[in-house]
Amino acid sequence: MSKKLIIAIDGPAGSGKSTSAKLVAKRLNYLYIDTGAMYRAVTLFVLRNNLMGKTDEIIQLANKLDIVLNFIDGETNIKVNGEDVSKEIRSFEINSNVSEISAIEGVRKILVKKQQEMGKNGGVVMEGRDITTVVFPNADAKIFITAGIDERAERRAKEFSEKGTLIPIDKVKENLKNRDFIDSHREASPLTKTPDSIEIDTSNTTIDEQVDLILNEVKKIAFKKGIKI
Ligand code: C5P
Repeated sequence: MSKKLIIAIDGPAGSGKSTSAKLVAKRLNYLYIDTGAMYRAVTLFVLRNNLMGKTDEIIQLANKLDIVLNFIDGETNIKVNGEDVSKEIRSFEINSNVSEISAIEGVRKILVKKQQEMGKNGGVVMEGRDITTVVFPNADAKIFITAGIDERAERRAKEFSEKGTLIPIDKVKENLKNRDFIDSHREASPLTKTPDSIEIDTSNTTIDEQVDLILNEVKKIAFKKGIKI
């Protein structure tokens, strides 16, 4: 029986993580799992219910949400209690609040359990902030993607403008810095590069180059493990 790999990818916002992870999954015919979408979905419902700052209520709410993640036509599709919230979770308002929600340990416990269930049989490329450290510390391939703050801010601003929302680059940069700080300084599973993760800096690479760099590393690992990919 052929075993399939668990590929874990972490890194800060705008590093090119999602773009490369999606394409790596496509090339390997693996499932792409965007865990950030799950934290964004919880944040959306917290905002709708005016619960910001109310930790116990937020955890109770997160427990009640039925989150279903799919990948349809090259995009993450996410439904919460049957409602498609795929577009709504990408707003600047969610960007500005999600790190506060994802810092709550009780919320993380609920989502990590779902993520471990989704990836346990392998054949997945899972990306987020704690995949290499908490969700799958024994993943076959562990990749940490980085890029300079200016490149990341430019990419995010471009993404927003392509969707018709113009946000000044300084505002995008400030939001990224804020999220970076909270995500890497929180007590519960902070974003960090593990010693056994392979670091890939995408500041000066094209998307194709990033994908090739990751695939090369994954191929080496698969070869060593005697797994055909
Ligand atoms: O990857 P994305 O930018 O969509 O993630 C949104 C936010 O969700 C991050 O800034 C982080 O606060 C949180 N997150 C997390 N752990 C993950 C994935 C995302 O804390 N595994």
